[in-house]
Amino acid sequence: MDVIPIPLLSDNYGYLLVGPDGRRAAIVDCSDAGPVLREVERRGLRLEAVLSTHHHFDHVGGNNDAADAIPKLRVIGSRADRTRVPALTEALADGESFEVAGLRGRALFIPAHTSGHLAYFFEEGVPSVFSGDTLFAAGCGRLFEGSPAQMMHSLGKLAALPDATRIYCGHEYTEKNLRFAHELEPTNKDVADKLKRVEALRADGKPTVPSTIAEEKATNPFLRWKNPELRATIRKRFPDLPEDDVAVFAKTRELKDAY
Ligand SMILES: [Zn+2]
Repeated sequence: MDVIPIPLLSDNYGYLLVGPDGRRAAIVDCSDAGPVLREVERRGLRLEAVLSTHHHFDHVGGNNDAADAIPKLRVIGSRADRTRVPALTEALADGESFEVAGLRGRALFIPAHTSGHLAYFFEEGVPSVFSGDTLFAAGCGRLFEGSPAQMMHSLGKLAALPDATRIYCGHEYTEKNLRFAHELEPTNKDVADKLKRVEALRADGKPTVPSTIAEEKATNPFLRWKNPELRATIRKRFPDLPEDDVAVFAKTRELKDAY
């Protein structure tokens, strides 16, 4: 599978997936149909499907236009978001398999950013996951429709994928996320090194995706609530915070909301 990131809107990514025949394609998160359809045409591809991670407008804003432009376009989304994903033709629940553009994938139900959020996991070749606004490089999505404990559970499902899994997330937030991570864990060398690499990429206007599950385990504060330095940093500011993991995670999310 070839994955082509398409920058959309201000800091979103749509991901064009090209199947094994080099012609059939699908797009993950069609926030704006114009640039997606132009890229499809420029590359001589045939767009067969849209995969929507969640119902937010900056992820599904182009679904109707794409469906109008391409007869029989499949639009796949979460069963829990049946009424919220525009132009939906196929609804998936947790663990259900699907096939697009000759690629076999599996839906992972990962609610909390929204109550219907899905990730799309492709295992063959280099395993890849499209994590929408749940897992970002060095960050996680805001809790619009779920609790901290639910987000921990959803992130845990993604963290359980093979270490080499490539992560394609919904936004280019990596640099700011790593600055925040660096403040929580000033002596974490993986965070400091990745921040340097990411600053250089962004200075050149290049995307910082994909990350990998292994990199996220080493750098992402929302997977590192057990880390003693992270906990000590938070405790210095909030001495009365209970020792339990959910409280640490929730406070980390709260600090990031205000960062
Ligand atoms: Zn969102």
